[in-house]
Amino acid sequence: MEGIVVSGPGRYLPDPTEGIINSADLPQAKVIRRSRNFAHRPCPRCGKSCFRQTTYTRVLHDLGDLVLGRPRDVHLEYSQHRCTRCKKFFNADTTEYALPRAHYTHRVVSLAVRLVVEDGLPYQAASWHLWRDHRVFVPFATIQNWVEAGGKKGSPPNVDELSRLGPG
Ligand SMILES: [Zn+2]
Repeated sequence: MEGIVVSGPGRYLPDPTEGIINSADLPQAKVIRRSRNFAHRPCPRCGKSCFRQTTYTRVLHDLGDLVLGRPRDVHLEYSQHRCTRCKKFFNADTTEYALPRAHYTHRVVSLAVRLVVEDGLPYQAASWHLWRDHRVFVPFATIQNWVEAGGKKGSPPNVDELSRLGPG
C-alpha cells in the first residue's frame, strides 16, 4: 500500500480519468436541486393566472466540483400550467438556467464556445479541457454544434445570470 499522495503547487499529478471514453465510467455527479415550480404562473399569451397541472424535472450538466473531482448536475424542477382561456399549456420559465431543450447550463455553453472561438482550441481539445479542468463531459460534436449555432465572438446571452447559479 502506498501512502496518501499529497499534491502541492506545481506538482504534476496524472489525471486518473485520462483515457476514459465511456461517460458511464465517469465519477458520479453531485446533484444540485433548483426549483422553478410554482402553484400559479401568468399565461404568456393573455396574462391570466393559471394553476399548475404537473411538475417536471430537467437535468442540466453544469461545471463540475473540482474539489471532489466530480461532475455536477442541476436537477431543475419546473411546473407546467394550463391556461383555461387560451386552452394552451405552458411551462414555468427555466431560461435563467439553460436554453429550451438544452442539456447543459448556460455557463458550460459559454465556456465551451469561448475555448474554441477566443482561445482557438480544436473541438476535441476543448472537450478534453472541459473534462480535465471543469469536470463536465461534453462530446466534441456538441461543442461544434454550439459554435456553429452562433458562437461568434461576443457575449453569450445571460452571462450576468450565470454567476447566480453559484456553487451549491
Ligand atoms: Zn391564456
